[in-house]
Amino acid sequence: MRSTWICLYACAVLLAFGTCGFGQPLRVVTLHSVLTEIARDIGGDSVDVKALVRPGVDPHVYEPTPTDIRSLQTAEIVLASGLGLESYLPRIARELPDGTIVNVGDRLPNNLKLDCADHAHAESSTVNRHHHGEIDPHWWQGIEPMIAATRIVESEFILRRPAQSGTFSRNADAYRDRLRALQGWARQEVARLPLDRRLLVTSHDAFGYLAREHGFILYPILGTDTATDTSARQLAFIITIVRRNHIKAVFAERSGNSRLIQTVVRETGAALAPPLCADGLSPDPAFATYDLMMRTNLRTIVDALR
Ligand SMILES: [Zn+2]
Repeated sequence: MRSTWICLYACAVLLAFGTCGFGQPLRVVTLHSVLTEIARDIGGDSVDVKALVRPGVDPHVYEPTPTDIRSLQTAEIVLASGLGLESYLPRIARELPDGTIVNVGDRLPNNLKLDCADHAHAESSTVNRHHHGEIDPHWWQGIEPMIAATRIVESEFILRRPAQSGTFSRNADAYRDRLRALQGWARQEVARLPLDRRLLVTSHDAFGYLAREHGFILYPILGTDTATDTSARQLAFIITIVRRNHIKAVFAERSGNSRLIQTVVRETGAALAPPLCADGLSPDPAFATYDLMMRTNLRTIVDALR
């Protein structure tokens, strides 16, 4: 009789824990490689993170497979970079419980969001800057929005696993300390480059947040989306800018097609710098973490333009 009661009690406890999720890792699915790093760093052993958009995959062109959809359906929380980057999200959101998807970019404070029209220099409106809407979706290229993103992820984790709030906050504080150290290093690194050399010609409009933090003027060949083409007029404009300003180097991107930037190189004699990482982390060890990606990008830019 006694063993029956113990058994019933144990079953009730298991059921209760199973229902409230206590003690089980939080099931997180990420749609951006930088969010995967943030989630794993803040969550530690208390989260089980499944990355659907892995390092090296272009998030502009990624589409979830049927297996990915099943992962999304079992997630307690889906972290998306937001601001329109994941064009498939509205379709998927209908199949998930309300509140599952956290659009990190959309939830950044308004003063940290960057209007596309404010930073990219184009000859005509034909450059496709507004494909995703008015706000530049590449927020991870700025360290201030990164810090804000860690706060959003931290609060979402705490909401779903309040018992682990101490661990999440400690981990998030440590991660933010590393971001602030990176910010200090970045300022020193860019200070090596005179202001009149901070002209950044890139394949697509991905570095607006970096430009805002470090005083660069951007001349992207393509708009904020990699899956578009440019006009002959925009290409001619970029070539004129490079010649007129004696810009020493222009930048391709690891995940992108370098055909257009090669044209600029051919026409101007500017150097083609080693490729930058624009849309997220990469399997290449030099870009394998957020800290490494930012350091490699900034070092490459400063070395090539000095
Ligand atoms: Zn991009």
